[in-house]
Amino acid sequence: MFRRLHLRRISRGLRFRLTASYALFFTVFLIGVAVLFRERLDHILQKQEQDALNDQWAAMKGYLRIEKKHEIDPDERAIWYYDDGDPDETRIVLEIKNYSFVADASGKPILDENDQPAVSAGYTDSLGLDPPPVVQATINAARSLKNPSPVWSTRWSADGERYLVRAGLVWDQRHQLPYYVALGMPLSQYGNILRGFTWIFIGVIPGALVLGTFLGWFMAGRALTPVLAVAQAAQRISGSNLSLRIPNREAGDELDYLILTFNRMIERLEASFQQMKQFSADVSHELRTPITAIRGQLEVALFTAKTTDQYREAMFNALQDVDRLSQIVRALLLLSQAESGQTILQKSRLNLSEVVEDLVEQFQIPAEEARITLTSEMPPDCPAEVDRVQIERMITNLLSNALKFTDKGGHVRVVLQSFPDRIEIVVEDDGRGIAPEFLPHIFDRFYRVPGSGTAPGPEQGLGLGLSFVAWIAKAHHGKIEVESTPGKGTRFAIILPACGTGPETMELAVQSTTLV
Ligand code: ADP
Repeated sequence: MFRRLHLRRISRGLRFRLTASYALFFTVFLIGVAVLFRERLDHILQKQEQDALNDQWAAMKGYLRIEKKHEIDPDERAIWYYDDGDPDETRIVLEIKNYSFVADASGKPILDENDQPAVSAGYTDSLGLDPPPVVQATINAARSLKNPSPVWSTRWSADGERYLVRAGLVWDQRHQLPYYVALGMPLSQYGNILRGFTWIFIGVIPGALVLGTFLGWFMAGRALTPVLAVAQAAQRISGSNLSLRIPNREAGDELDYLILTFNRMIERLEASFQQMKQFSADVSHELRTPITAIRGQLEVALFTAKTTDQYREAMFNALQDVDRLSQIVRALLLLSQAESGQTILQKSRLNLSEVVEDLVEQFQIPAEEARITLTSEMPPDCPAEVDRVQIERMITNLLSNALKFTDKGGHVRVVLQSFPDRIEIVVEDDGRGIAPEFLPHIFDRFYRVPGSGTAPGPEQGLGLGLSFVAWIAKAHHGKIEVESTPGKGTRFAIILPACGTGPETMELAVQSTTLV
């Protein structure tokens, strides 16, 4: 059972599949090469045999002299005559005659000078006589054409030998009579070479395959070892030790890229784990403060209050803390809904100038109370495709912060500008500003610049306002730019894409100018 599972695991493994594909490719490649090579060799050898046969044919044409033997043959049979005083002619004719068949136009075979029934014992013994219809058909075909091409064929002899045969029409030198001649050549040597070659391949291919497969298995193993090492390193990383990283191999290969990507992912996970931890710590801290305060008020009411007024005051204070508590819970709920994508924007086309103007008007009374001059500049029309409620919440948060962190006699300015590709909403003040070291954190949840806030108590901010601003800008595919100089003021610019332009990715650009 275990064995079968182990085998299945191996056969599904990357190493096995890599080796199998390599072996398959190698097999196909080797067989392909062998077949191609054999074809080519076959072609070359056949060409050589044809050339040899062509040479013999040319020699034979010069020496073909057929004599009729009237006196001994009443059927007017003819013989291939040669001059045995001429050693060259004798050698060539005897050599050719051994593998040739000569017949007259009617298909009747020519005798030799020994009056043997077949012209060439070598040929006829092996291949038999060419039947008269074949002879006649060849002669007729050759006569009807001016330059007849030779007829090539391969034939098997009775004892299983392969022959290459060239057949055609030849004119007798002396009498100018047409004769059918077939020259044969045994292909045994040629076949032996091919067979030898085939056997070499049959012997070599399996050996090469086994060797190649072992090599493939070894190479795949070597290539995959670092992957296993990476997997083992990755296994050691868990929620409790997210600070661990997979060591880079410095090889600059794909695996290093994978390790880099993986490490970056762990980094992001660690950051969000950290954020979550920080968030829950912040939430419990934020909730504990009003709860402790409520408990204190109730203890006062229970143990020390004597008069109705003292009771009322304790109750009033406790109620204020309860309000703050529910404010925090409500804001958190809204923010987490927004950030988890559960708040869907209700976008509509509206005139942003009107929205901003209304808000500035609403803030005039608190601004006057705080002796701060609140001014605004905007075009009469600024069409935008936004969620009115969220945009109002965004500007309200920015305006209330500006008023909260600007002292008496200060100025707060709201500027709305429309460009072809973007809309800019700027809220700037000449208030206390934010020091550069605090600037990158102001969009974090529950973050308040230390020492800058209003005194701890019910009116202290929750530190969630700018988190909302960031989410709203992001949801509208916009970006936020902040510039601040401690003691001189702060400028928040929200840049939204203009109607009809594609969404941009939101960015937080934080810039700080230090006081000179
Ligand atoms: P809060 O409810 O405390 O205002 P926010 O998230 O709106 O929370 O702001 C975070 C912190 O950023 C504030 O506590 C304040 O210290 C700082 N801040 C925001 N706006 C301004 C501003 N216009 N001038 C100076 N400091 C600011």
